[in-house]
Amino acid sequence: GASTVGLSAWADVDLGAIRDNVAELARRAGDAAVMAVIKGDAYGHGLVPVAGAAIAGGATHLGVAQLGEALAARAAGVSAPILTWIFPPGADLAAAIHADLTLSAGAPWALAEIAAAARATGTTARVHIKVDTGLGRGGAWHDDLAGMLVDAARLEAEGVVDVEGIFSHFAYADSPDHPTVRAQQETFLAIVADAERAGLRPRIRHIANSAATLTNPSAHLDMVRPGVSVYGLSPVPHIGGPTHFGLREAMRVTARLIAVKDCPAGQGVSYGHLYTTKGDTRLGLVPLGYADGIPRHATGVGPMQVHGTRYTVAGRVCMDQIVLDLGPDSPAQAGDEVILIGRESQGEPTAQDWAAAIDTINYEIVTRLGPRVPRRYL
Ligand code: PLP
Repeated sequence: GASTVGLSAWADVDLGAIRDNVAELARRAGDAAVMAVIKGDAYGHGLVPVAGAAIAGGATHLGVAQLGEALAARAAGVSAPILTWIFPPGADLAAAIHADLTLSAGAPWALAEIAAAARATGTTARVHIKVDTGLGRGGAWHDDLAGMLVDAARLEAEGVVDVEGIFSHFAYADSPDHPTVRAQQETFLAIVADAERAGLRPRIRHIANSAATLTNPSAHLDMVRPGVSVYGLSPVPHIGGPTHFGLREAMRVTARLIAVKDCPAGQGVSYGHLYTTKGDTRLGLVPLGYADGIPRHATGVGPMQVHGTRYTVAGRVCMDQIVLDLGPDSPAQAGDEVILIGRESQGEPTAQDWAAAIDTINYEIVTRLGPRVPRRYL
């Protein structure tokens, strides 16, 4: 990677870690294929570089949420199969078909619009039917589903669509033992049987997110669809961190202190003086804030490491800056490095530590890291 001289902060993205994590997920998946989920700018890691690393690690398919993400990947030269499952009525599905994208049909209107676009372009649209097996979010269910399966079979017989796959998503991503997991799996297989009775032959049945990929082989079916684990983050931190699952964190976030100054006891720190120095000390300024995706809720609790010592944010997280109380004896100077997100295995602060500190999930911590923090690809 390029030099970090002069950068306030940066995020190193270890593409080798992504490749190795996907290889580990593929090994665990056995005969099942791997669709690496790279939505949300690859959970903040960078859509296009991650796509290449995931393919290098053995992913045969890529998955994104929004159609725009899929088109962006194609425009950047990503040639692997890409499934997109979010687009509104009226989206340019002809462009999607021209870009050889795989479209999710999760409602009757979506199937009808896909069919119309396929007819207009004179091609067959590749479709995965999305079914709601109990998440209560996206996907067809109940009467809509029964009608859609019949319509899809008719459209397939006419050569308008190729229903290559059928998929669903779990409600309890972080609780592999929750009873809804087994119930959703059983519902899914029953729906696949319904689809076959309607005349469809979906070749790729997929329901396993990261948690199911790592902990529930019976859910692997024809393809697994992991996201967060691709990035070396655990979907089930209460069971184990990345090391426990043979994964490693791909993202490392480092900042440089932009000031270190002596400070007397009893000084209020940052907006609202939510923190007051206990004794004579040294304050360090970290040039990251909520404009960069550092949660304002991390006020007083976000973990950081300087010269091997762990600190928590002193006072309010601001838009562009955070203050640390480094203590009176810190050797730190302006320009020294601050680790915000490092490796669990090295005892450094992690995305999971940030998540635990503010009662959210590691997914949110990495995904919200803003565009002002340059990514360096290693
Ligand atoms: N499949 C779908 C439909 C999703 O929305 C997501 C992300 O939430 C994933 C797969 C990947 O899930 P995870 O990051 O928990 O592996």
